[in-house]
Amino acid sequence: MPLITLTPDGLYCEPGAFHIDPWRPVARAVITHAHSDHASLGHEHYLVSQAGEHVARQRLPGASIQTARYGETLDMNGVRVSLHPAGHVLGSAQVRVEHAGEVWVVSGDYKVQHDPTCDAFEPVRCDTFVTESTFGLPIYRWGEPRDLFAEVDAWWRANQAVKRASVVYAYALGKAQRLLMSIDATIGPIYTHGAVESLNDAYRASGLALPPTQRVAELPKGHDYSRALIVAPPSAQSSPWLRRFGDYADAFASGWMQIRGVRRRRAVDRGFTLSDHADWPGLLSAISATGAQHVYVTHGYTDPLVRWLREHGVDAQTLSTKFTGEEGSADTGTSADEAESGVRSQPYEPGSDPTAS
Ligand SMILES: [Zn+2]
Ligand SMILES: [Zn+2]
Repeated sequence: MPLITLTPDGLYCEPGAFHIDPWRPVARAVITHAHSDHASLGHEHYLVSQAGEHVARQRLPGASIQTARYGETLDMNGVRVSLHPAGHVLGSAQVRVEHAGEVWVVSGDYKVQHDPTCDAFEPVRCDTFVTESTFGLPIYRWGEPRDLFAEVDAWWRANQAVKRASVVYAYALGKAQRLLMSIDATIGPIYTHGAVESLNDAYRASGLALPPTQRVAELPKGHDYSRALIVAPPSAQSSPWLRRFGDYADAFASGWMQIRGVRRRRAVDRGFTLSDHADWPGLLSAISATGAQHVYVTHGYTDPLVRWLREHGVDAQTLSTKFTGEEGSADTGTSADEAESGVRSQPYEPGSDPTAS
């Protein structure tokens, strides 16, 4: 019997009597991070990282939440459990599970790129590694974050020069705060959609020095937005909420923006390739750093990654979970379907082999 198995409720550690990111209500849930496909409502008890406590409480109002510091070992029914930074969003954790000399790590979502809003991904040695694969195709390769944010700044300045507001769509949990912490906030005023600002509150309560922002809803009618940057969840795109900004340019910040066809279908003025998930080289380096002999690939482009790992001597297989790719959540109006629609269907130009490296 493997230490962790896939049940109808989600990933389950039987000897420890706990689930990891279960999608149906259970007694004890260890949560990797607060995105809705990983942190669902209705469990009796939650364990989250201490760094992610404010975010988790914001997303799971009224829940019974216990926290653990990164690296702190808990005994759960004789199973040793510890949380380690995943570098995905504030508080995101990999779950290390040790029992009878065997070590598993369930990584949740992760990235290896620098992010000023969370602790860096920590490679954890293990026998079996459970990895995501949201961007598990060799075509996905992120550039330097510094260069990307310089592009955002330049776009904002150029819009200002022609008295046009700059609206950028970013996932409300994680992406929006990473953007806010990384742009040049001296360029002009920054306004937010309520879904973004409530997460900003949780980040500030966690000690992160986000630049000053103000809710659009608090501003008077007829306010001048021509110098402003407005951060909104993707669901705000094409909504009447945008009318108040007058003349505006919009942009979408997502890993999917690397693909021309997706940019076209999103119909935004500008796409910034910014992801909180590992790109292809990031996945391979993270997996290799674990030293794991067995790898389970849970979501995204699982087949290409499984094939690559097998070709390189790793015992790899797909684990069909209910986790989705880029973060989506019902409360921000950003369903996982929205994040993925028009993306998975044709992620690369026809005729090319996406798995050829
Ligand atoms: Zn996910
Ligand atoms: Zn996530």
